[in-house]
Amino acid sequence: MSAVQADTLDAVGTAQQVRIAIIGAGPRGTSVLERLLAHAAARPVRAALHIDVIDPYPAGPGHVWQPGQSRLYLMNTQSFYPTLIPEDPALAPPVAGTTFNGWRARQQHRPLPSLAMEEKSELAALGSGDFPSRALYGRYLRCTLKELLERLPDGVTVRFYETSAESVVPAGDGTFDVALAGGGSLRTDSAVLALGHIPSRLNPEQRELQSSAARLGLRYLPPAVPADVDWDAVPGGEPVLVRGMGLNFFDALGQLTEGRGGKFIDAGPRLDYQPSGQEPLIIAASRRGTPYRTKAALNAYYPASVRLRYLTGAALERFRAAGIRPGFDHDLWPLLHRDAVWAYYSTLVRSHPGAVAEPAAFLEALDVALHPHAHSAANWEDSMAGVLATHVAPRHRLDLRGLAAPLAGRSFASRAELDAAVVEYLMDDARRSALGEEDPVKMAIGALHHGRAVLKTAVADGGITDESWVSGLRGWFESMVEGLASGPPALRAEQLAALARAGVVSFVGPDPKFGLDRRTGMFTAASPWVKAPPVLAKTMVEALAPANRVSANDSPLLKQLLADGLVRPRLMMTAEGAPVQATGLDVSPHPYRPVAANGSVTRGLYVLGLQLSAAQWGTAIAAEAVQPGGPNYPSGQRTLRDADEIARAILGR
Ligand SMILES: Cc1cc2nc3c(=O)[nH]c(=O)nc-3n(C[C@H](O)[C@H](O)[C@H](O)COP(=O)(O)OP(=O)(O)OC[C@H]3O[C@@H](n4cnc5c(N)ncnc54)[C@H](O)[C@@H]3O)c2cc1C
Repeated sequence: MSAVQADTLDAVGTAQQVRIAIIGAGPRGTSVLERLLAHAAARPVRAALHIDVIDPYPAGPGHVWQPGQSRLYLMNTQSFYPTLIPEDPALAPPVAGTTFNGWRARQQHRPLPSLAMEEKSELAALGSGDFPSRALYGRYLRCTLKELLERLPDGVTVRFYETSAESVVPAGDGTFDVALAGGGSLRTDSAVLALGHIPSRLNPEQRELQSSAARLGLRYLPPAVPADVDWDAVPGGEPVLVRGMGLNFFDALGQLTEGRGGKFIDAGPRLDYQPSGQEPLIIAASRRGTPYRTKAALNAYYPASVRLRYLTGAALERFRAAGIRPGFDHDLWPLLHRDAVWAYYSTLVRSHPGAVAEPAAFLEALDVALHPHAHSAANWEDSMAGVLATHVAPRHRLDLRGLAAPLAGRSFASRAELDAAVVEYLMDDARRSALGEEDPVKMAIGALHHGRAVLKTAVADGGITDESWVSGLRGWFESMVEGLASGPPALRAEQLAALARAGVVSFVGPDPKFGLDRRTGMFTAASPWVKAPPVLAKTMVEALAPANRVSANDSPLLKQLLADGLVRPRLMMTAEGAPVQATGLDVSPHPYRPVAANGSVTRGLYVLGLQLSAAQWGTAIAAEAVQPGGPNYPSGQRTLRDADEIARAILGR
């Protein structure tokens, strides 16, 4: 039997009758454990319950949230957001624990003696609206698991294995054998796959860059969880090409600047950067040519002034009642688009009174133009354009697609000109974020952010058509909304602008092409929209997470399950009728069980989290704590309900 965790999470008891193996003990796997304990405590189990928890990383934080990682890695959700513990009165009450915010407040008054100095000092200054370090969230997960284990209901035993599960094989009598890396195996009645962010094979272009880099003696850092990357391997004083300007980019930036001893200095109206001299010259590239837009400064997860009027639960119910499985582009986006338009112009009227000549008449006319008429052949966008032409000057109008592609249609005579344009964009974005609820652009984005929560319900509960999932939701909307509504706090835009002004960061431009220059033996990147020689670098960093695609996974366990036909990727039909492999597993709801290659559903095997990405949308986010004043969308704690359903199915409730 392989190593058992050597602290208070040691094995507790040995009696076994109903046996469960939880494979993966990050937040999702820990949620299943929490729900099993909650149900066992609510109605004592008739048979003794034995739970084996398997993860090569310490249970609770798992891989992503290791408490020892650099404190420069921040969460991109605020303290009030995440929770491991459900707050739904319809579910069995938890045996222990609270939300992250509840734990934060408790630690500020009565810190656990086991907290490290740096944890105490972070907690001392951390407010409900601040962005915690990932390390601190990991400490919360660890402490919460410990609290749960201190309240084990009678008849329940838990054992931890700090290793990977390498295979799950049916044993023939309805049980499974789970083989552990390093030897040994566990017999279990049920197995829960909560594998989360697993390694992925590189795509052909990445493989080519990696193998050419090895041949030419260059450094290629493939997609990874940022805390796994050896940032010391990136040499200072020379160019490094960074592909991707999403959240991982800001992690890379932090490690290569502040992490190297540089300092941001508050220089009155703006930030300045004082280099340490150890930084590389960071050359950043992404399809848009700009980073994700930063979050608006709000006291809540959703802007309070924005309430959806069109893409609502009632609208989804109307589709259901009419027997319509909605299409994204045809049915759902036109509603959400209207919501974004209304959020923009209602904010404009409120915060820029001079921008619209007759605000009341304008909003009334806009209301009529946006009203969804089920049996009208009129085009609402034409009606809206007519209203805008009458009431709003062109410079005050919303260009939603343009927001997501701020450099589209522009070209630059030099790299310096491009860098100046990106700095201007960053400062404008940070200024808008600071205006919060008063900025029309940020409120249009706020409507999309609200809409994302409703879309998650539409996708997971009623489902949308395959073709619109492929070409609409994942085809264009996901990347647009990610770039607009999933960004970092505004401070990051100000920091990036400061780094660009200090000459530590430069940009490649939109639609970059990457390659290797055989003559110089270096990586190259160039944008067709910037008149400048290609950028050359000996180091290239992919600032991306490994692809979440089961068919490209590099996990021995998932490969075995696919090879043995115990699971299969879901196939979806495109508009042309061609089947395409979706990113997630084929599953039957509820609870989610994998569909085998032969179409059967294996009893006793369960899935939750990221591998559900062909049944749910937006699976890679923590469960959302109930927000005082709401709105509290059903999708916010879906993952906890998924865990609850698995626990109930296992316990036969
Ligand atoms: C870098 C990063 C930052 C993020 N930041 C945020 C944020 O700020 N806010 C937010 O809400 N969400 C964030 N997320 C989203 C994140 O997906 C969720 O918050 C959460 O971690 C998902 O939990 P999980 O348990 O499904 O997956 P994971 O956290 O990935 O945990 C899965 C666990 O399974 C284990 N495992 C995998 N295969 C096996 C195997 N064969 N045998 C045994 N164990 C195995 C892994 O070691 C891992 O510990 C972030 C994700 C990443 C990668």
